[in-house]
Amino acid sequence: MNDKLTAYFSALARTDHSVNVAADKIMGQRREGIAIDQPCELGYHCPVCEYLLEDDGDYDERLLWSEYNSFLWCSVCNKDYPSALCQPDIDKAIETFLASVSQAQEMAVGDALAVTP
Ligand SMILES: [Zn+2]
Repeated sequence: MNDKLTAYFSALARTDHSVNVAADKIMGQRREGIAIDQPCELGYHCPVCEYLLEDDGDYDERLLWSEYNSFLWCSVCNKDYPSALCQPDIDKAIETFLASVSQAQEMAVGDALAVTP
């Protein structure tokens, strides 16, 4: 296994992941599934760390899908960030923000419909 894959699987195995109670309550947790693309492959970048997104064709994979909907988790910062903050392209950041709000609204409606009298 190469160094990048080793670092990636080490990050996933961390047991001290950040916890964001408000993100959990408001946005909920992602459904289990296999993500085909990593956030870095979709242009997302940690808003705090300074690094090259791509170096000679290799992506920096520190940013991973968070357990919370519409959030990404930086394995270096050990912090969950709203996806829109991780999008350097401002037009894509706006799209990401609106998609996040839309998803939250749909979940709220779904929860309201799921309540039985
Ligand atoms: Zn970071």
